[in-house]
Amino acid sequence: MQEVEAYIGLGSNLQDPQLQVTTAIDALEEIRNTQLIACSSMYRSKPMGPASQPDFVNAVAKIATTLSAEELLTALQSIEHGHRRVRGAQRWGPRTLDLDIILFGDQEIDTNRLKIPHSGMTDREFVLIPLQEIEADLIIPGKGALSGLIEQLPQYELTKIETTDVESQS
Ligand code: AMP
Repeated sequence: MQEVEAYIGLGSNLQDPQLQVTTAIDALEEIRNTQLIACSSMYRSKPMGPASQPDFVNAVAKIATTLSAEELLTALQSIEHGHRRVRGAQRWGPRTLDLDIILFGDQEIDTNRLKIPHSGMTDREFVLIPLQEIEADLIIPGKGALSGLIEQLPQYELTKIETTDVESQS
Protein backbone atom coordinates (compact mmCIF):
# COMPACT_ATOMS: atom_id res chain seq x y z
CA MET A 1 0.00 0.00 0.00
CA GLN A 2 1.30 3.45 -0.89
CA GLU A 3 2.02 5.91 1.87
CA VAL A 4 -0.79 8.40 2.50
CA GLU A 5 -0.83 11.56 4.62
CA ALA A 6 -3.84 11.67 6.90
CA TYR A 7 -5.22 14.05 9.53
CA ILE A 8 -6.66 12.85 12.80
CA GLY A 9 -9.01 14.93 14.97
CA LEU A 10 -8.66 14.38 18.72
CA GLY A 11 -11.18 15.46 21.36
CA SER A 12 -11.83 14.83 25.04
CA ASN A 13 -13.91 16.41 27.80
CA LEU A 14 -13.60 13.89 30.62
CA GLN A 15 -10.93 12.60 32.98
CA ASP A 16 -8.19 15.22 32.45
CA PRO A 17 -8.83 16.05 28.78
CA GLN A 18 -5.39 17.55 28.13
CA LEU A 19 -3.73 14.39 29.36
CA GLN A 20 -6.13 12.26 27.29
CA VAL A 21 -5.18 14.17 24.15
CA THR A 22 -1.44 14.15 24.93
CA THR A 23 -1.34 10.43 25.56
CA ALA A 24 -3.50 9.74 22.50
CA ILE A 25 -0.94 11.62 20.37
CA ASP A 26 1.78 9.42 21.89
CA ALA A 27 -0.35 6.40 21.01
CA LEU A 28 -0.62 7.54 17.37
CA GLU A 29 3.16 7.15 17.16
CA GLU A 30 2.79 3.50 18.16
CA ILE A 31 0.38 2.56 15.34
CA ARG A 32 2.07 0.08 13.01
CA ASN A 33 3.23 1.35 9.60
CA THR A 34 2.50 4.91 10.71
CA GLN A 35 4.57 7.99 11.56
CA LEU A 36 3.46 11.12 13.38
CA ILE A 37 4.45 14.12 11.24
CA ALA A 38 2.96 17.13 13.01
CA CYS A 39 0.62 18.09 15.75
CA SER A 40 -1.39 21.28 16.35
CA SER A 41 -1.65 23.14 19.63
CA MET A 42 -4.44 22.08 21.94
CA TYR A 43 -7.62 24.17 21.90
CA ARG A 44 -10.51 24.50 24.31
CA SER A 45 -13.98 24.44 22.70
CA LYS A 46 -17.57 24.61 23.86
CA PRO A 47 -19.51 21.33 23.59
CA MET A 48 -21.62 21.04 20.43
CA GLY A 49 -24.33 19.01 22.12
CA PRO A 50 -25.87 19.46 25.57
CA ALA A 51 -24.27 22.49 27.25
CA SER A 52 -24.37 20.78 30.65
CA GLN A 53 -21.05 19.07 30.07
CA PRO A 54 -17.44 20.21 30.40
CA ASP A 55 -15.62 22.08 27.61
CA PHE A 56 -13.65 19.96 25.17
CA VAL A 57 -9.93 19.92 24.51
CA ASN A 58 -9.21 19.39 20.80
CA ALA A 59 -6.19 19.01 18.56
CA VAL A 60 -5.36 17.72 15.08
CA ALA A 61 -2.42 15.47 14.19
CA LYS A 62 -0.90 14.78 10.79
CA ILE A 63 0.38 11.28 10.15
CA ALA A 64 1.83 9.29 7.26
CA THR A 65 0.65 5.70 6.98
CA THR A 66 0.68 2.71 4.66
CA LEU A 67 -2.44 1.33 6.40
CA SER A 68 -5.75 1.52 4.58
CA ALA A 69 -8.34 3.96 5.96
CA GLU A 70 -10.29 1.03 7.45
CA GLU A 71 -7.18 -0.37 9.15
CA LEU A 72 -6.38 3.08 10.50
CA LEU A 73 -9.91 3.44 11.91
CA THR A 74 -9.55 0.07 13.66
CA ALA A 75 -6.24 1.22 15.19
CA LEU A 76 -7.83 4.49 16.36
CA GLN A 77 -10.79 2.67 17.89
CA SER A 78 -8.38 0.45 19.78
CA ILE A 79 -6.68 3.58 21.20
CA GLU A 80 -10.12 4.94 22.19
CA HIS A 81 -10.90 1.70 24.02
CA GLY A 82 -7.48 1.81 25.69
CA HIS A 83 -8.50 5.16 27.14
CA ARG A 84 -11.54 3.43 28.62
CA ARG A 85 -13.71 5.62 26.53
CA VAL A 86 -16.84 6.53 28.43
CA ARG A 87 -19.71 7.33 26.17
CA GLY A 88 -23.42 7.11 26.62
CA ALA A 89 -26.15 6.80 24.01
CA GLN A 90 -26.53 10.57 23.92
CA ARG A 91 -25.35 12.11 20.67
CA TRP A 92 -22.60 14.69 21.19
CA GLY A 93 -22.42 13.76 24.85
CA PRO A 94 -19.24 13.78 26.93
CA ARG A 95 -16.41 11.41 26.02
CA THR A 96 -13.05 10.43 27.38
CA LEU A 97 -11.48 10.32 23.94
CA ASP A 98 -12.77 10.74 20.42
CA LEU A 99 -10.51 10.09 17.42
CA ASP A 100 -11.73 10.85 13.90
CA ILE A 101 -10.08 10.50 10.52
CA ILE A 102 -10.57 13.99 9.13
CA LEU A 103 -8.74 13.47 5.82
CA PHE A 104 -7.05 10.47 4.24
CA GLY A 105 -4.85 11.72 1.40
CA ASP A 106 -7.09 13.10 -1.31
CA GLN A 107 -9.51 10.19 -0.99
CA GLU A 108 -13.26 10.55 -0.67
CA ILE A 109 -14.72 7.53 1.12
CA ASP A 110 -18.36 6.84 1.85
CA THR A 111 -19.02 3.44 3.40
CA ASN A 112 -21.07 2.24 6.37
CA ARG A 113 -18.04 2.58 8.58
CA LEU A 114 -16.27 5.60 7.18
CA LYS A 115 -17.06 9.01 5.74
CA ILE A 116 -13.98 10.88 4.59
CA PRO A 117 -13.58 13.84 4.53
CA HIS A 118 -15.20 13.58 7.96
CA SER A 119 -18.82 14.66 7.56
CA GLY A 120 -18.79 17.37 10.22
CA MET A 121 -15.43 18.91 9.47
CA THR A 122 -16.45 21.84 7.26
CA ASP A 123 -18.27 23.80 9.94
CA ARG A 124 -16.33 22.74 13.03
CA GLU A 125 -13.92 25.40 14.15
CA PHE A 126 -12.20 22.93 16.50
CA VAL A 127 -11.21 20.91 13.41
CA LEU A 128 -10.52 23.68 10.87
CA ILE A 129 -8.44 26.00 13.06
CA PRO A 130 -5.99 23.33 14.33
CA LEU A 131 -5.81 21.95 10.78
CA GLN A 132 -4.85 25.40 9.50
CA GLU A 133 -2.10 25.58 12.08
CA ILE A 134 -0.52 22.45 10.57
CA GLU A 135 -1.26 22.98 6.86
CA ALA A 136 -2.58 26.42 5.94
CA ASP A 137 -2.73 25.74 2.17
CA LEU A 138 -4.74 22.54 2.41
CA ILE A 139 -7.38 21.76 -0.20
CA ILE A 140 -10.19 19.59 1.15
CA PRO A 141 -11.34 17.00 -1.41
CA GLY A 142 -14.82 17.94 -2.62
CA LYS A 143 -14.97 21.02 -0.39
CA GLY A 144 -12.31 23.47 -1.59
CA ALA A 145 -9.64 25.50 0.16
CA LEU A 146 -9.35 25.23 3.93
CA SER A 147 -8.86 29.02 4.10
CA GLY A 148 -12.25 29.53 2.37
CA LEU A 149 -14.02 27.24 4.85
CA ILE A 150 -12.45 29.16 7.73
CA GLU A 151 -13.63 32.48 6.29
CA GLN A 152 -17.20 31.16 6.40
CA LEU A 153 -17.04 30.15 10.06
CA PRO A 154 -19.08 32.26 12.46
CA GLN A 155 -17.04 33.95 15.16
CA TYR A 156 -14.74 31.41 16.79
CA GLU A 157 -15.44 30.25 20.29
CA LEU A 158 -12.14 28.45 20.38
CA THR A 159 -9.30 29.24 22.76
CA LYS A 160 -5.77 28.11 22.15
CA ILE A 161 -4.28 26.47 25.23
CA GLU A 162 -0.90 28.13 25.67
CA THR A 163 2.01 25.86 26.55
CA THR A 164 2.52 27.78 29.78
CA ASP A 165 -1.05 26.80 30.80
CA VAL A 166 -0.16 23.15 30.24
CA GLU A 167 3.11 23.51 32.15
CA SER A 168 1.52 25.33 35.05
CA GLN A 169 -1.04 22.55 35.44
CA SER A 170 1.50 19.74 35.35
P1 AMP B 1 -18.20 9.11 16.96
O1 AMP B 1 -17.52 8.38 18.03
O2 AMP B 1 -19.44 9.79 17.37
O3 AMP B 1 -17.23 10.03 16.25
O4 AMP B 1 -18.66 8.03 15.87
C1 AMP B 1 -17.96 6.84 15.70
C2 AMP B 1 -18.47 6.15 14.46
O5 AMP B 1 -18.29 6.98 13.34
C3 AMP B 1 -17.70 4.87 14.20
O6 AMP B 1 -18.59 3.80 14.28
C4 AMP B 1 -17.15 5.00 12.78
O7 AMP B 1 -17.38 3.84 12.02
C5 AMP B 1 -17.93 6.18 12.23
N1 AMP B 1 -17.15 7.03 11.32
C6 AMP B 1 -17.58 7.44 10.09
N2 AMP B 1 -16.65 8.20 9.50
C7 AMP B 1 -15.61 8.31 10.37
C8 AMP B 1 -14.36 8.98 10.32
N3 AMP B 1 -13.99 9.70 9.25
N4 AMP B 1 -13.53 8.87 11.39
C9 AMP B 1 -13.91 8.15 12.48
N5 AMP B 1 -15.08 7.50 12.59
C10 AMP B 1 -15.94 7.56 11.55
